Amino acid sequence: MIAVLKPNTTKQQRDNLITWLEGQKVSVHVSEGHDYTVLGLVGDTSKIDIELIESLDIVESVKRVTESFKQCNRKFHPDDTVIDVGGVKIGGGNFCIIAGPCSVESRDQITEIAKGVKESGATLLRGGAFKPRTSPYDFQGLKADGIELLLEAKKITGMPIVTEIMNANHLPLFENVDIIQVGARNMQNFELLKELGKTGKTILLKRGLANTLKELLMSAEYIMSEGNTNIILCERGIRTFETYTRNTLDLSAVPMLHELTHLPVIVDPSHATGAARLVKPMALAAAGAGADGLMIEVHNDPIHALCDGAQSITPAQFKEIAEKVNRIREVMGQ
Ligand code: PEP
Ligand code: MN
Repeated sequence: MIAVLKPNTTKQQRDNLITWLEGQKVSVHVSEGHDYTVLGLVGDTSKIDIELIESLDIVESVKRVTESFKQCNRKFHPDDTVIDVGGVKIGGGNFCIIAGPCSVESRDQITEIAKGVKESGATLLRGGAFKPRTSPYDFQGLKADGIELLLEAKKITGMPIVTEIMNANHLPLFENVDIIQVGARNMQNFELLKELGKTGKTILLKRGLANTLKELLMSAEYIMSEGNTNIILCERGIRTFETYTRNTLDLSAVPMLHELTHLPVIVDPSHATGAARLVKPMALAAAGAGADGLMIEVHNDPIHALCDGAQSITPAQFKEIAEKVNRIREVMGQ
C-alpha cells in the first residue's frame, strides 16, 4: 500500500503518521520525491483502514499496490533511484559504461585493458574472478587472486570495480569490491540474494537466462527486503528458439522496467549476442532504448581470451562504441 502525502506536510505530522502505521505492524519506507512524499507500507496491510488514512488532512491519496514487488516498485518511489559508486553516479539520467574482460587472467592483461577502456570513456571496470562456466573443465577464474588484481587495476586507474559472486561464503573477499555482480545463473539463488541484502554493497543483478521481468523484480525485492536498496538491474539476453545469437536481447525490457521500477537498468550486449560484431549495434540500440548504462566485454587479445573471446571487442572497437553512444544520448537530449 502507498500513501501519498500533501506537499505542505510537516515533519512532525509525517513522523506521527509513520509511528501510528508502524503500530499497525507494517514497515514504512519513506520516499521523498520532487513534489510529494510517498510512504510505502510493507507487510500485512489487510487490516489497515484505507478510508481512515485517506481522511487525514495531510494525505493526498492512498492506493493498494497489487504487484508482489513492493520496494522496487515505481509506485513506492516515483523518482529514479540514483546510485553513487565511488563518485560514479548511475541512474536518473547518469549513464555508466562498465567495461573489461570476461575474466581476469593476469596482472598485465587486466591493467592494460583497464587503462585502455578508461581512456576511451569507461566509468567502471569489470572482470570475472569467480566464473560460472557451463563446463567444470573450463577456466574457473583466478578467484581471490583475481579480485586482488582488480583492486590493483583500480588503484592505477581510479575506476571502481565490478565482479561476480557465486557463493555467500566468499563475501569477505568482496569487502573492497565496489559493485557485486549476481550472474544470470544465480538470479534466483535466494539465499545468496538475502545475504547480499544484508550488506551495504551495490548489487548488479543480471536477468536469468529464462526469467521474466517479474521474476527479476522479485529477486531485487529479496535483496531490498533485507535492507539493501542499492541495486542495478541488467538485461543480458534471454534464451529463445533462435540459435544464430547466443541469447536474444530483450530491448523492450528497458522501457518496461523503467515503467515498473525506479532502479537503474543497464544492458549487456556482449552476453546478449555472443558475437563481437553484434556488440556495437546492440549497444547503440540499448542507449536509444533509454538504458542507464552498458556493460561490455573488452579484451586486448580476444582470440586468446580464456573465456568469452568470441563476444569480446578490442579497446579500439570499444572507443568507437563509447563515442557513438554519447552521440546517441545527445540526440535523445540526455
Ligand atoms: C559475466 O558477466 O561474465 C557473466 C557470466 O554474465 P551472465 O551471468 O549474464 O551470463
Ligand atoms: Mn563473459
